[in-house]
Amino acid sequence: FISPDPVALHARLRPEAAACVDLTGNRSWSYRELDTDIQRAVTVLRAEGIAKGDRVAILARNNVHQVILQQALMRLGAIFVPLNWRLSQQELGLLLKDCTPSILYTDEDIPELPPGCRSKSFREFASTVAVAEPGLRCTPHSGHDTCIILYTSGTSGVPKGALLTSQFLLATAVNFNILGEVDTGCVFLCDSPMFHVIGIVTQIWPPMLRGGTFIVSPGFDPEQTNERLGNPDFGVTHYFCVPQMAEALRHASNFAPENWKKLKALFTGGAPNPPAHIRWWLDRGVRMVDGYGMTETGTTLGMPLSRDLLRSKAGAVGLAGPLTAIRLVDEDDRDVPDGSPGEILVFGLNVVTGYWNRPEERGRSFTADGWIRTGDVGRRDEDGFISIVDRRKDMFISGGENVYPVEIEAALAEHPGIREVAVIGIPDERWGEVGRAYVVMAPDRQPDHDELARHCQSLIARYKVPKEFRFVTSLPRTGSGKVMKHVLRREALAEL
Ligand code: ATP
Ligand code: MG
Repeated sequence: FISPDPVALHARLRPEAAACVDLTGNRSWSYRELDTDIQRAVTVLRAEGIAKGDRVAILARNNVHQVILQQALMRLGAIFVPLNWRLSQQELGLLLKDCTPSILYTDEDIPELPPGCRSKSFREFASTVAVAEPGLRCTPHSGHDTCIILYTSGTSGVPKGALLTSQFLLATAVNFNILGEVDTGCVFLCDSPMFHVIGIVTQIWPPMLRGGTFIVSPGFDPEQTNERLGNPDFGVTHYFCVPQMAEALRHASNFAPENWKKLKALFTGGAPNPPAHIRWWLDRGVRMVDGYGMTETGTTLGMPLSRDLLRSKAGAVGLAGPLTAIRLVDEDDRDVPDGSPGEILVFGLNVVTGYWNRPEERGRSFTADGWIRTGDVGRRDEDGFISIVDRRKDMFISGGENVYPVEIEAALAEHPGIREVAVIGIPDERWGEVGRAYVVMAPDRQPDHDELARHCQSLIARYKVPKEFRFVTSLPRTGSGKVMKHVLRREALAEL
């Protein structure tokens, strides 16, 4: 299998078609221009001495030049490493030491670089590319070579460098395109951070494979994103974000989904999306399509776009894409019957080959016959649709019963006064563990412990109802917007 190059293909198939628009620099590229700029970037990188297997890291806000850099490195057989600009200097230092890049492209101040790593201005890279010679085409590389090291979100601890091959990128795009009904006329608005799998893979590769258009915005902003989704000059057809961003969108002052005339669907993934929220969007005419994936597996499962199914199965994450198979298994790796919770195992062309510098993780994270253990618990209904129950690590046991916080959070999401919520299990003398909910109330609402407890009791079994509600102004989140429950748990344990 040879590394795919959709841009080179579309440069011949539809040279003048709009490939991408960069809202930072207010410019656009046709497929011919994009292909030429990628080839110019190859020249620039060659001159820097970058060769097969070398790592090139980047620390920058979203722009089209990140995509150009990623594609150029892929043509060279080298490895693109996007880094999270929300990390502290110390965390960044650890990741740089881990991936030992030859170059770090950034316009930020990085005090300590590991030996052998040069820091270069990314803005300068962009301007050098603009005037470079396109140079000779590279010999294609194996589709099994690593082309991106993507650090996981660090939701459950230290980020791990997942090894993405170009086969992974292609498979994710195919899965997404089939499940999400993406065609050549598609226009994606891309404002998820490019250091995350949604940002650099799922919002770019599907339109690029199809020869459609991707609009790159420097970043998510509730008002601006609303404006862009409603802008008739853009005609956005597909938008993908994490549930937290969707929540911010609907609370923005200029929220007017009736103006999103061309939008086929609002895709979510990356964190639990409560059924109450999905129905809320459907009631306003927007198809909210939840799907499941991870850094290690790209687009894995997705809901179909049928409004009836989206409503009747709100809370499900759908079916496996065509290049993927999944299993749900018990502790002994035996398949569980439909309706029972089991750990999700994934097999497919969209799966990483392992983790950078962590050969031991391969054995821990994969079965002997090559299925990746996701650490997520799922359930399959009688029609084959999967729901995510929770992360295995987030489950707690109260009075001998397994409790999955996601279910409690979904119940609390039905309460109109709650803006954000996260539930963890904390030690308890009587029950072993009990739930504690961290709640951010809507600005016009007063916190009321008893009212929330009664609300829960009307929806879920008594043993699942949190014993304690903590009213807070925000929740600790990762750069991709997920609640870091390990931080909440650590704080809770420190209080004991
Ligand atoms: P780390 O692996 O570093 O702890 P992370 O698992 O959050 O961080 P990602 O790869 O960004 O890193 O996220 C993948 C995880 O996100 C999945 O394993 C799952 O727990 C969660 N997830 C993804 N999609 C959904 C979804 N639709 N519903 C619920 N959870 C989801
Ligand atoms: Mg993970």
